Amino acid sequence: MATIFSKIIAGEIPSYKVAEDENYYAFLDINPLAKGHTLVVPKKEVDYYYDLDDETLAGMAIFAKRVAHKIKEQTGCKKVATVVLGLEVPHAHIHLIPMNSENDVDFRREKLKLTPEEFSEIASKLAE
Ligand code: AMP
Repeated sequence: MATIFSKIIAGEIPSYKVAEDENYYAFLDINPLAKGHTLVVPKKEVDYYYDLDDETLAGMAIFAKRVAHKIKEQTGCKKVATVVLGLEVPHAHIHLIPMNSENDVDFRREKLKLTPEEFSEIASKLAE
């Protein structure tokens, strides 16, 4: 069965798209730790990040780099954290999180509640 991320990539489930190319897709995390918290996923459906083939893994880092620069530019954060963790969705993904202190990347923190308008506005700025 297709993962929720494959359904997002296929457009069967809506997402706040930030970037896309033939191999990767970036969209806003629906439970963000910070405004601009983005997920980068390969279109190829592989559960575990380190099971990705070398070419896909390397290409994903380069794709994420472009998105991370955009997040930094648009949010004015000090750095963008790159986090691979979680067992919730069996589809490899990188979290890109705007960071001004290490606390900003504590996944136990309460997530932001944003309106659809706020999500859309952030996504369109990051997609520019
Ligand atoms: P994890 O596997 O723990 O990294 O969790 C998966 C991440 O995907 C969580 O941060 C969720 O908030 C996020 N997520 C799950 N479903 C969606 C969705 N439909 N749109 C955007 N983000 C999602």
